Amino acid sequence: MKLSKKLNTKNYKLKTKNYLVVIILGPSGSGKGTQSKLLVRKFGFDYFGSGDALRKRQKIADFTGKKLIRVMNLGELVPSFVISKLWIDKLEKLKQSKGTNGFVLDGSPRKIAEAKFFDEALIWYEFQKKVKVIFINISRKESLHRLTKRRICKKCGRLIPYIGKFKSLKKCDKCGGRLIFRPDDKPRAIKKRLEEFKREVIPVINYYKKQGKLIEIDGERSIEAIFQDILKAIE
Ligand code: AMP
Repeated sequence: MKLSKKLNTKNYKLKTKNYLVVIILGPSGSGKGTQSKLLVRKFGFDYFGSGDALRKRQKIADFTGKKLIRVMNLGELVPSFVISKLWIDKLEKLKQSKGTNGFVLDGSPRKIAEAKFFDEALIWYEFQKKVKVIFINISRKESLHRLTKRRICKKCGRLIPYIGKFKSLKKCDKCGGRLIFRPDDKPRAIKKRLEEFKREVIPVINYYKKQGKLIEIDGERSIEAIFQDILKAIE
């Protein structure tokens, strides 16, 4: 059965009238991208995926583009100014488009400095009224297991998670492209990313918790169950 049918959220209405900003955080492999894209499909929100945007940025063969390949393949975080510039450009564009009633930020901020900077940006762009931060939590063991098995499409860059119906895919279900392992999904780089998560992202999660914006969700369940919880959380 198609996932969209199984989700059974057709009649779900967003109650808020304010522009909604949903920040999705979680360790690598927690399914941030999958859940973000479901939200985008359901509500037509705008979307910014940090990892995707940085992988796109790698393709510009300037100093930063080349250095990003090295840094990201090692599993290290990129400097805050690099990622911040990318999401600021996105917010500026959003302000100019007549657009949608919400925005999903997938995988950022990952450092306290970025979180403070993003707070300021939301105020500047007048998007600060309704902000929800979803923390999809999975154990280190689950993260390691999923990351060593997930794949990415060489042609369109779609990430194929190692969960549910995606496990058995042989080719990209969007463009038919070849599926390969992501260059930073090697054991050393995965460990580094999980270390960075503990050191840098957990303080960001606590920062949002103190602001009363955080909703923690158990990510070791089906895609549908997690999505239902996210829908309840953003009401
Ligand atoms: P992801 O695809 O979300 O796993 O992100 C891949 C890589 O992008 C991470 O390992 C980091 O090197 C980098 N990255 C993504 N978002 C951020 C961020 N907000 N701050 C710093 N580095 C980031």
